Amino acid sequence: MQPLTGSCLCGKLKYTCNSEPLFTAVCHCRTCQKSTSSAFSVVVGVQRDDVTIGGSTLTTYEGLGDSGQPTHRHFCARCGSTIMAEMAAKPDLAFIAAGTLDHPEALNPQLHVYWRDHQPWLETLDTLPQHDTMPPQ
Ligand SMILES: [Zn+2]
Ligand SMILES: [Zn+2]
Repeated sequence: MQPLTGSCLCGKLKYTCNSEPLFTAVCHCRTCQKSTSSAFSVVVGVQRDDVTIGGSTLTTYEGLGDSGQPTHRHFCARCGSTIMAEMAAKPDLAFIAAGTLDHPEALNPQLHVYWRDHQPWLETLDTLPQHDTMPPQ
């Protein structure tokens, strides 16, 4: 398979993931809405150890997840694009912001998460399962 590659809007940050995505989810949580200024974000779950990020403008925002443990959003200090998130509660995983992939068209989203926060004016055109928060592992 081709490695997953992507970059921020300005191109100063680039990343590569050398393993297959574990899942692709459409997240409707308020944190994703705020950080993307959109109705949802599409996130690709991958093995954290298989991800390499390069570039000089990497900045991290630490927030608090539903688990009560920290979450870290990595973004570009120059252009503001969030490229990846990590959760202390799931240390083996990284969550790639799908819009930053070089080939997002190759994705196959499998589920909606945090559907409880979805915007009422959003109509989905798919029949994917809708989970109120995160599905049980
Ligand atoms: Zn950038
Ligand atoms: Zn979210």
